[in-house]
Amino acid sequence: MTETNYISENLDMVQKKIKEAAARAGRNPEDITLIAVSKTKPVLMLQEAYDAGQRVFGENKVQEILEKEPVLPEDISWHMIGHLQRNKVKQVIGKAAMIHSVDSLRLAEEIEKEAAKQDILCSILIEINIAAEESKYGILPEEAPAFAKQLSAFPHLRVKGLMTVAPFTENPEENRKYFRKMQQLAVDIKQKNIDNICMETLSMGMTGDYEIAIEEGATMVRVGTGIFGERNYNK
Ligand SMILES: *Cc1c(COP(=O)(O)O)cnc(C)c1O
Repeated sequence: MTETNYISENLDMVQKKIKEAAARAGRNPEDITLIAVSKTKPVLMLQEAYDAGQRVFGENKVQEILEKEPVLPEDISWHMIGHLQRNKVKQVIGKAAMIHSVDSLRLAEEIEKEAAKQDILCSILIEINIAAEESKYGILPEEAPAFAKQLSAFPHLRVKGLMTVAPFTENPEENRKYFRKMQQLAVDIKQKNIDNICMETLSMGMTGDYEIAIEEGATMVRVGTGIFGERNYNK
């Protein structure tokens, strides 16, 4: 079997599971965006996914967006989902439809500066370290409302919601409590009616746990392995 077949079959399967999870939660599947996480994968594989109808891709390195974006169709929207260093901001502003990983005031300041230079509005999410893991990036949940307030002062940022990378676990049910906590946190922040801050987007759920994330309110799921197969970082 060629790679073509398996990518489009995987996409169909993931879309089907998204619909089923949405149905279980009484949600409209159209309110959930599938981000195909294509990090480390060659453009040929992204093209296969594109040909199967996929238009939203996620990368965790600025360099990979810069390499892939010019050689793939223009109607792809690129999401920056990985940790972003301030010295890379300049290159990714205007290329990424959304930056999911804003987790410090200094990074937000840099994004504001570059977006202002280019005279564009930059859509961002606040990354939350929902399980307060040592190893993870993100703002602690209890600090998120104050952080949102700080971000509202930046005229070229548009805060669209929250993102998290839930703990790695064999049993996705264990992450349900964290996804629920994310949804509650979004509601709490929304209720504060902060200028320029909207909480319509909840980016959470990966290959192992996206169905549970959808049941708990995810509006964007980031699926890599489930579409493109395992990643090989050693080649
Ligand atoms: C790699 C990555 C994903 C996708 O992970 P899979 O388990 O392969 O689906 C999602 N989100 C982020 C931030 C990632 O870095």
